[in-house]
Amino acid sequence: MTVDTTVTVRVPAKVNLQLAVGPAREDGFHDLVNVFHAVSLFDEVTVREAGPRSGRPDGSTSPDGGTLLAELTANGRSVSHLSRVPLDASNLAAGAADLLGRETGRGRPVRIHLEKRIPVAGGMAGGSADAAAALVACDRLWQTGLPREDLLRLAAVLGSDVAFPLVGGTAVGRGRGEILEPVASPGRYRWVFALSPHGLSTGAVFAEYDRLRPDAPAPELSTALRDALAAADPAALGRALANDLQEAALSLLPELERTLKTGASAGALGALVSGSGPTCAFLVGGGAEESSVVAEREAAVVASLEASGLCEQIVRADGDVPGTVFV
Ligand code: ATP
Repeated sequence: MTVDTTVTVRVPAKVNLQLAVGPAREDGFHDLVNVFHAVSLFDEVTVREAGPRSGRPDGSTSPDGGTLLAELTANGRSVSHLSRVPLDASNLAAGAADLLGRETGRGRPVRIHLEKRIPVAGGMAGGSADAAAALVACDRLWQTGLPREDLLRLAAVLGSDVAFPLVGGTAVGRGRGEILEPVASPGRYRWVFALSPHGLSTGAVFAEYDRLRPDAPAPELSTALRDALAAADPAALGRALANDLQEAALSLLPELERTLKTGASAGALGALVSGSGPTCAFLVGGGAEESSVVAEREAAVVASLEASGLCEQIVRADGDVPGTVFV
């Protein structure tokens, strides 16, 4: 049997089709109903064996005293987004390697390279995606062979959004978002994403939500959304898209309202802020629609967003797509 010394994993971004947020709990978290939808915007995470004498560049060690992270590098098209990626032990991919190494006792020093396509601090869970990818990549590199349920459990320890990219597709997350259940969604959809030059901190958006909605009700899955997905009806899906954090994101970054209106006026079937923002998502078609109809709508939305001068970058993607895959 050959043993891999380099493993690359491709991992998708997510958009939330519904994000219902309950009131803050005693532990500071919020109960969520979070309908995740994986889209074809991918990061690639490569882990390599590093020599046994390699240590972290900052000299730090993992909590058990090991030195699992030898070096972290990142590359990507957007300089402003790349500048927000920490290249030390605080990177979520490094945290995933550390946790797996400690849990299994099989961790060895690694170099981790991130090829970033998912917007950073954009509400598309790029950091969580990298953590999920690093988890499965190290699992293979170190031949830990953890059962899937153990990987999902470790992912949930790493963060509320880390388990979903292992699974992909469309799924509802409950609790903090980490208790996943697949949702029937036979359709395929086309999306346009407007990336902002700014980042929004997830914590700041939740704090603004608590300020604006101190009386938030318990979150519930939208039946309109579930029915639209089951029927693969893009118009109904567009109407059912909902994000409780949108008002808070708009309050912190008011220009997002113009971005949303621009795409909606150009004919998008639905428009919403993705997660905690500031990326805006536009549903431009899918299901049984003719591809020429979808392409025309997509072109109109992209042209209007480009002309608005509000976006740093506009990207197109399909959803849903599967979760992590080995490259
Ligand atoms: P979420 O929607 O899960 O709250 P997000 O998509 O808004 O997150 P991320 O791209 O995950 O945002 O990044 C949030 C912050 O996490 C970044 O500003 C950065 O400081 C930190 N971070 C840690 N690891 C990574 C990583 N691998 N990629 C990107 N950001 C990372």
